[in-house]
Amino acid sequence: MILGLGPGDASLRTPQVTAALDEATDLVGYGPYIDRVALGRDAIRHGSDNREEIARARHALSLAAAGRCVAVVSSGDAGVFAMASAMFEAIEHGDPSWRALDVEVMPGISAMLAVAARLGAPLGHDFCVLSLSDNLKPWPLVLKRLRAAAGAGFAMALYNPVSRARPWQLGEALGLLRDFLPGTVPVVFATAISRPEERVVITTLAEAHSDQADMRTMVLIGTEATRLIPRPGNTPWVYAPRGAGS
Ligand code: SAH
Repeated sequence: MILGLGPGDASLRTPQVTAALDEATDLVGYGPYIDRVALGRDAIRHGSDNREEIARARHALSLAAAGRCVAVVSSGDAGVFAMASAMFEAIEHGDPSWRALDVEVMPGISAMLAVAARLGAPLGHDFCVLSLSDNLKPWPLVLKRLRAAAGAGFAMALYNPVSRARPWQLGEALGLLRDFLPGTVPVVFATAISRPEERVVITTLAEAHSDQADMRTMVLIGTEATRLIPRPGNTPWVYAPRGAGS
C-alpha cells in the first residue's frame, strides 16, 4: 500500500488511509513521517533518510514479496513529489515478480490543497504545480517551466522551495518571476499548515524574500487577477476569481 498521510493534522488523513495503517505490519518512509504515525497496534517502523527513495522502495517491495503487509508512507499525497513514483520506478526496473504484488495507492490531501483551503481559494482557477528542487532535474529546466507558467498566466504552487542543500534556488526563482510578472502579484509563504507551528505570510512579488521560506513551506504565486479581502484580526482571504485571465 502506498499512502498519503495528509499535510500534518491527523484529522486531515482519510479514513481509508487510517484503516490501511491499522492493517500494516511494516511502515516504510522518511523517518520523521513515520514517527508521526500513531498506530492502534504494533508495526515495524523502517525509517530512512529523505534522499534514499529508490532504496526505500526496493526494501518495501522485498518485504511485500516476503508476505508482509507494507505501508509506504509520504506526507500529503504519495503521488505528489513523493514515494509513489519511486515505487513504480522500482517495480518497472526491479524483480519481475514484483509486478504481481497487490499494490494499491491511496490518495491524501496534498499540501497545496490544505494551504489553499487555509487562505481561501487562491488555486480556484487555472494553476500549475512545480517542485523547485533540482535534486532530480536540472535547474535550467526549473527556470524554463517557471517562465512558461508565468507567461501563460498560471497561479503557481511551489513545493520544496528551499532546503539546507538548496539555499539559493528560491531567490533566483523569485528574481526570474519579477522579470515576467508585476510586482503587485500576491505571494504567500505558508509554512507547516495544519501543524502546531503553522505560519502564513502574505506579501507581494516585489517584497517577497526567500528568508520567509524553509523546508516546511509552500510558496504560492498568484496572478494579476488574484484578489485579497482584508479581515479584522486575521490574514486576508486570498482567492482566484472564477473568470480569471485575459
Ligand atoms: N507529497 C507531499 C509533498 C512532499 S514535498 C504533498 O503532497 O504535500 C515536501 C514539500 O511539501 C515541502 O517542502 C513543502 O513545500 C510542502 N509541504 C508539505 N507539508 C506542508 C505543510 N503542512 N504546509 C506547507 N507546505 C507543506
